[in-house]
Amino acid sequence: MSHPSFLLELTHRCDLSCAYCYGPWKSTAGYPQGELPTSRLKELIDQLIDDAAPRSITLMGGEPLLSEHLLEIASAVAKRQVKVGLSTHGRALDRALADRLVRAGVGHFELSLDTIDAALCARLTGGRVDDVVRAIGAVRSSGATCTLSAVLTRPILPGLPDLLGFAFALGVSSVSLLRPVGCNVPADLLPTDDELLEAVAKADETAAQTGLQLTLGIPLEPCLFDRKRFPHVLMAPCGGSTDKWTIDPMGNLRICEASPEIVGSLLSSRFGQLSVSPAVQRFRASCRQSDCLDCSWLDSCRGGCRQARR
Ligand code: SF4
Ligand code: SF4
Repeated sequence: MSHPSFLLELTHRCDLSCAYCYGPWKSTAGYPQGELPTSRLKELIDQLIDDAAPRSITLMGGEPLLSEHLLEIASAVAKRQVKVGLSTHGRALDRALADRLVRAGVGHFELSLDTIDAALCARLTGGRVDDVVRAIGAVRSSGATCTLSAVLTRPILPGLPDLLGFAFALGVSSVSLLRPVGCNVPADLLPTDDELLEAVAKADETAAQTGLQLTLGIPLEPCLFDRKRFPHVLMAPCGGSTDKWTIDPMGNLRICEASPEIVGSLLSSRFGQLSVSPAVQRFRASCRQSDCLDCSWLDSCRGGCRQARR
């Protein structure tokens, strides 16, 4: 039996304004609004764990630190022996809160930081580098592990080696590099394929020199990008509808965090039914290239990122 991971969006509220935010609820008219009451969400989680035996559930948003039931939900997941992660911009994360989250069961934090250039950070996200530095210190002191995630928009690419050196110096265990996806990204923030490849190749040099673990959270398809240029960067295949599923604050299941398409509601259907639904079959058949099914890289790429294609 495979053990998928789930991204659980606790809220779609957020107090930053990232120019590249992929949140499909922002750009999709009629996307369901609202948040389930804590008790109903806990029932849903219990049923999901019974049905899907997940290896991890990552609590995210929007900004999950704005969710009133974050600690209770973290604790409910951890009580079922499922790993709990938290993906946050970290603005409100100090030592006391990090300790409470770890006591509730959060074992891994993913913090967002794209650049150490304070002015660029403010322009791209509305946030402050210093807040993330404080959050990293809080997480490390609390005993949890910490990954930084950086969205590879065009303006941050020249400073990427500095960001990685900074992360290494702060004792961050790994960095996840994410290409910008979704339909909200302004065209001037999108790098070309060559710019992306050049930046990841440079990042690879830092990984080789420092031992910092670098992962491409969204694949650079081997048929389009020369993987020999980044041998030290791990690449996750597209996890949508196989390893990874997304659940929104109203209990709707999505195949992909960046896509607005809802497979169905976990309030009215079981995960087992939804996971074989026509929408899922369509997604699996919708590879990036027409020749994916005959491709020798299919297992490590799974058809590439459909959202980047948009
Ligand atoms: S699986 Fe498809 S997208 Fe991935 S490398 Fe092969 S042809 Fe390209
Ligand atoms: S299409 Fe796949 S790789 Fe792209 S964002 Fe969605 S799940 Fe991730």
